[in-house]
Amino acid sequence: MRRPLVAGNWKMHGSRAEIATLLDELMQVDSAKTTAETVVCPPFVYLQDAIRRLKESTIAVGAQSVCAEPIGAFTGEVSAAMLKDIGCRYVIVGHSERRALYHEDDHLVARKFVAAQSQKLTPILCVGETLEERESGRTEGVVARQLDAVLTVASVAAFADAVIAYEPVWAIGTGKNATPEQAQAVHAFIRGRISARDDKIAGGLRILYGGSCKASNAAEIFRMPDVDGGLVGGASLKSEEFGRICASA
Ligand code: PEP
Repeated sequence: MRRPLVAGNWKMHGSRAEIATLLDELMQVDSAKTTAETVVCPPFVYLQDAIRRLKESTIAVGAQSVCAEPIGAFTGEVSAAMLKDIGCRYVIVGHSERRALYHEDDHLVARKFVAAQSQKLTPILCVGETLEERESGRTEGVVARQLDAVLTVASVAAFADAVIAYEPVWAIGTGKNATPEQAQAVHAFIRGRISARDDKIAGGLRILYGGSCKASNAAEIFRMPDVDGGLVGGASLKSEEFGRICASA
């Protein structure tokens, strides 16, 4: 049985004070009731505040990105060892905004995945197609390519301690979510691709859906057999809404 997971990607939002308030509200919501594992991913500079504040709670903290290199002259970057050092447990790699805006290619994403695991951080690997790729029938090809890049640099065994997030680019921040059936089809494809290499690992792998996930659509998407929770952007900045999404996982 896979334990559902809901992760909030706060992107570059919030001030120190706003994040403190949000965390306090989330702790109340979280202790109220949810079987889902909850993770929040604040901006780098607020990670340590969040980790301290959530010390007594069950909510874990993740980073939104990580450097592929372990140490050295990489101005502006943050290493996996540093994230581990302050108590981070998860890290998002390959978010579509990183791929599109910062030109992170499949190979770099794969190296970030490996860097995270080298410090026992759990990577949340984002994959997903653009609208143009979907409309030209290339969804599976794109997702396969993104997955295979990691399978080449790491191995299927690495997915025993990883999470995948299927995030169709056309659904991120657009208010237009994938239908439960569209999400299920790609999630099943992802699980099948891992299963072709290792059935047991595929069976235990958590695959999250992300893309305009809200309290009003989460339950029907999470009900699909291969959907194990969500990676939530905008709606994770509202404690009540995020709490309802977690409760529906
Ligand atoms: C995301 O940023 O990963 C995301 C899914 O955003 P949103 O929920 O706002 O579409």
